[in-house]
Order: sequence, then C-alpha cells, then structure tokens
Amino acid sequence: MQAARIAPSLGRQLLRLGGGSSRPTALLGQPRPGPARRPYAGSAAQLALDKSDAHLSDALNKEKPAKAESKSFAVAMFKGQLTTDQVFPYPSVLNQEQTEFLKELVEPVSRFFEEVNDPAKNDTLEMVEETTLQGLKELGAFGLQVPSELGGVGLCNTQYARLVEIVGMHDLAVGITLGAHQSIGFKGILLFGTKAQKEKYLPKLASGETLAAFCLTEPSSGSDAASIRTCAVPSPCGKYYTLNGSKLWISNGGLADIFTVFAKTPVTDPATGAVKEKITAFVVERGFGGVTHGPPEKKMGIKASNTAEVFFDGVRVPSENVLGEVGSGFKVAMHVLNNGRFGMAAALAGTMRGIITKAVSTLSESPGNPNSSLTVPLAVCP
Ligand SMILES: Cc1cc2nc3c(=O)[nH]c(=O)nc-3n(C[C@H](O)[C@H](O)[C@H](O)COP(=O)(O)OP(=O)(O)OC[C@H]3O[C@@H](n4cnc5c(N)ncnc54)[C@H](O)[C@@H]3O)c2cc1C
Repeated sequence: MQAARIAPSLGRQLLRLGGGSSRPTALLGQPRPGPARRPYAGSAAQLALDKSDAHLSDALNKEKPAKAESKSFAVAMFKGQLTTDQVFPYPSVLNQEQTEFLKELVEPVSRFFEEVNDPAKNDTLEMVEETTLQGLKELGAFGLQVPSELGGVGLCNTQYARLVEIVGMHDLAVGITLGAHQSIGFKGILLFGTKAQKEKYLPKLASGETLAAFCLTEPSSGSDAASIRTCAVPSPCGKYYTLNGSKLWISNGGLADIFTVFAKTPVTDPATGAVKEKITAFVVERGFGGVTHGPPEKKMGIKASNTAEVFFDGVRVPSENVLGEVGSGFKVAMHVLNNGRFGMAAALAGTMRGIITKAVSTLSESPGNPNSSLTVPLAVCP
C-alpha cells in the first residue's frame, strides 16, 4: 500500500531525473562542459574525439521532433497508469450475448454478498448460514455450469470464473462450499456422465436440493492419487459393486448426498486375461446405505466450509453408477481436478482482490496516515 502510494511520486521524481527526456532534466540547467581532454589520446585522435564531441553537442542542441507517446508498460507505470491489455493479452472469448448475460449476473451476485451473506457470522458458526444457502439456491448458484435444459444456468468457464471471483472476494468458505459441489463434486457427471446419469442427478444438484462432494484423498494417499486403497469389487451377477474404504479431508463430506468416489477395481486385460487393479470412478448416493462421515475438521481458516472424513462400509453401488469407463477413473479424476482448478484460481483471485481492497481502506483510514485525522504513528498499528 505504502509502495502503491509512493510509486507515482517516485515515478514523477524519476521522470524529472530523465525518464521522459533524452537527457536527464536535472542536468539540463548546468553548463555543458567543453571538449574533454583525454590525457592518453594522441593529437590526431584528440582532434577526432573533439569533432565527435562537437557533433554530439550539435545533435543535442537541435530542436527534436515531438516524441510519440511511449508504449512502454514500465514508463506508463511510472506515470501512474496501468495498461492492462499489455499484461493480460488474452483473447476475449465471450460473444455479445454471453457478455450481456454475465453483466446481468454480476450485479445481483455482488449485491447478495454485500447485503445478505455475513462472512463473520458464518465463520463464528463454523457453517454457512441457512439464509445464505437458500439465497444462493434461488440465485441458481448451485448449478452455474449445468445446462439450462437440466435446470442450471448454463455458464461457460469464463462466465463461471467471473462469478466465482465475486464469491471468493466476499467469503471464501462459501466459495469452497459451492466449488466442492460443482467445480469438483459433480463435475465428473457433467464431463463423463451418461445421458441417464445426467438426467437423474443434475437437476437436483443444480437447484441445490442435493449437495455433492469429490472423494479422492485418503489417509495414505494425497498428491499420489494413484495409490488409493479404497476398493470396489464387482458382484458375481455384475449388477453392483461393493465399495469399502475411507476418504479424508472431503469438502462437503459431512453434508453431501451425492459423492464422486474413486476406488480400485479389478480389471481383466482382454488380450492376456491378466487381472490388474485400476481406478474406477463411481457416483455414490448417501442413500445407498453404508456411507457415514466423521466430525467436521477444525480448521484455521475457511471455517464455515465443511471438511470431513467419509467412510464407505460395504456400500452397494449399482453398475450403472460407474462414471466413465471401468478402469479409467484416474483420467476422470485428473480431468475433474484440471477443470476444478479454474474455479479455485478464480475464487482465490477474488479473495486476494478483496484482501488488497480491505488493506488499502484500513491503511488509508489508519492512525499515522497523513491523510487520516488520527496521528498515532503507523508503526504501532497492528
Ligand atoms: C481444506 C481442504 C479441503 C480438501 N478438500 C478435498 C476434497 O474435497 N476432496 C479430496 O479428495 N481431497 C480434498 N483435500 C485433500 C487435498 O486434495 C490433499 O491435501 C492434496 O491432494 C495433497 O495431499 P496431502 O495433503 O496428502 O499432501 P502430500 O501429498 O503428502 O504432499 C505434501 C507436500 O509434499 C509435496 N509433494 C508430494 N509429492 C511430491 C513429489 N513426488 N515430489 C515433490 N514434492 C511432492 C506436495 O506438493 C506438498 O507440498 C482437501 C484438503 C484440505 C486441506
């Protein structure tokens, strides 16, 4: 903040010192010294050097044509201007209609977070208030990327990112709740679900009637997702799988009705007949029975988001709930996570923006700031 305040005046000082001229302005007032004597130059060489000095002096004294405005990003910064299209040279991907639609959504979502949601209260309660959840459902925030024919808002990634940025700016715990639900929780159904799976699950997920969670991490498996131990064994009749295992630190784990679960399954190689353990993704309903969860984790931040261990104990999962191909669960997980990162990055960009805005307003109103009415030195401010 201090740096931000200092920058323009520092920039002006630097400009006075020469940033905007071919010669440092600070030096223009001084008499220009005569031809320099080089003690080690021969007389012919000295003559040539004197000539070149005279030439340089003429060139400097000549009236220069007006310079075109500099396109330099750094020069603009010193002038206190930020030329964003030089730093964000990304194509504009939205068409006119999508841009208009997004504009219509930004205002009510921002207003909702300014007027209805209470982040401090959520944090104290260690859960998102029911009024907030209800309001978000009414806004359509639980199904932002679900196609409109299945009850969602039908946003593309760019539109989604813009709205999620607003959520992250005001209350990241709400952002995690919504993100765990749609950025990863049911994203597998959106990306890999069959028509029947989409029609069965997405409308209720989009309206917020059911909540989703993404279950990959285990006590012994984090970054190394391929090492999971949860297993799903197919029944002899082929109609269902029996799922056993547990998943750790699952966002919405204590609240969700629908889980995308990754488990090892035996897969037979048709060419060799050899059986290998491969990961398969499943859509698991809490209602199948055998799904329980631990207490919410006590976290240092994002306290209102629910994080819990989830246990699967002999859960019978119908074969039609396999998500994607049997044995291709790792691909499903990585696609979902890659897609989910989009939302996470957008939410956190919003969080940072919110923090910077708060820091700026706190400092500009704080004691010690020359513009503040209070006079306590800045150094004693917390
Ligand atoms: C608040 C919260 C919510 C979460 N929500 C979910 C959820 O909804 N669903 C879910 O499935 N999981 C969830 N997780 C789990 C999260 O995805 C894992 O924490 C993450 O995958 C990392 O695993 P880990 O914690 O076991 O760390 P580890 O894998 O043990 O990694 C620890 C550190 O070692 C580094 N590291 C790991 N392997 C290597 C390597 N080979 N080379 C160099 N460095 C390495 C990592 O970068 C990291 O810095 C959540 C976690 C938190 C904290």
